[in-house]
Amino acid sequence: MNYQKFLIKYAEIGIKGKNRHLFEEALVRQIRIALKKTEGSFAVSREQGRIYVDCQGDYDQEELLENLKRVFGISGICPVVQVPVCGIEELSAHVVGFLRELYDTHSQTFKIHARRARKDYPLDTMELNRELGGAVLAAFPHMRVDVHDPQIWVYVEIRESIYIYSHVIPGPGGMPVGTNGKAMLLLSGGIDSPVAGWMVAKRGVKLDAVYFHAPPYTSERAKQKVIDLAKQVARYTGPIYLHVVNFTDIQLYIYDKCPHEELTIIMRRYMMRIAEHFARETKSLGLVTGESIGQVASQTMQSLAATNDVCTMPVYRPLIGFDKLEIVDLAEKIGTYETSIQPYEDCCTIFVAKHPVTKPNVNIIRRSEKKLEEKIDELVKTALETTEVLIVG
Ligand code: ATP
Ligand code: MG
Repeated sequence: MNYQKFLIKYAEIGIKGKNRHLFEEALVRQIRIALKKTEGSFAVSREQGRIYVDCQGDYDQEELLENLKRVFGISGICPVVQVPVCGIEELSAHVVGFLRELYDTHSQTFKIHARRARKDYPLDTMELNRELGGAVLAAFPHMRVDVHDPQIWVYVEIRESIYIYSHVIPGPGGMPVGTNGKAMLLLSGGIDSPVAGWMVAKRGVKLDAVYFHAPPYTSERAKQKVIDLAKQVARYTGPIYLHVVNFTDIQLYIYDKCPHEELTIIMRRYMMRIAEHFARETKSLGLVTGESIGQVASQTMQSLAATNDVCTMPVYRPLIGFDKLEIVDLAEKIGTYETSIQPYEDCCTIFVAKHPVTKPNVNIIRRSEKKLEEKIDELVKTALETTEVLIVG
């Protein structure tokens, strides 16, 4: 059955009063972004605390649903049939016709769940349930009512029109992007950081991203891979401003001056400093990374502390307690995994020492960084000035 209208459900907890209004507006905005990517002509409307998508003319239902399933804030998508407000006999015929078209066999158990949003309708909810239930039983003698655990739910809502639906397709949950400020994602070509970005965005946070590129040690293909990953994350978040920083000279300078076992930590401290610069400039309220405790040498508690030492903004690490397999599962679910496992090096893997420190001492790291004093400010300044900003998605 091809529907012309969808009712969009969202979790209402915690969005009372003024927040509700902002939440709904942001959700409508994000739905419109998702629909722009869908072939066809659609209209989104808000009526009485409900959001509807109307499809005008031909469209691909699969494609529409796939795109809506990526809009954070949606808890359910209900394909609805809309009929004008009418008397109970006509309504019964509509409900029976709806079931006939939707289901092949008619021996299932069912339950009518009526809702009367306009009080001038002559029947109340109980009467509607009874009358419509009776009509279904009369039309399909093999069906039975089960009020506790029915196989088929039939929802009937009486509003400015009458809406009939049976399926609630799960949405991604979360909150609409844009309702909780913005954060700067440190996006590498790996498995973890796209997932970390997705998790923070799911809570309503808009994302910008920064990628540290080290040509010629990292190839154009590695950069393209990060752009592709940003594109995939942007399917959920809307367009992402991706900052591509040329990090080569900074890395070479650190390589030249500092003990090699400390390279990764010192490099990561410069990544954080530069990411913070762009975060501040673009009004982000925090940084996001894909780190998880103990995954690699640079993610032990000591290493994380040494990296965090340079940050003045909150750093969000949504994967902190996840095992790699759990992260991989999520990466597969959100569609970034296949791109992440393409074999192009990211800059960290080129400059890793054979025996990196796993328990760096912050004071020692700070002392090593002193060896960079002569040129590092200039190099950072150049990196900031030459950063390329791409709008992805
Ligand atoms: P990922 O799979 O996300 O690359 P990882 O397990 O490879 O993570 P690291 O390379 O230590 O771990 O990186 C830890 C985090 O630092 C990443 O999740 C990402 O947020 C950030 N990061 C690492 N390299 C880069 C880079 N070249 N550009 C931007 N951010 C980076
Ligand atoms: Mg990595």
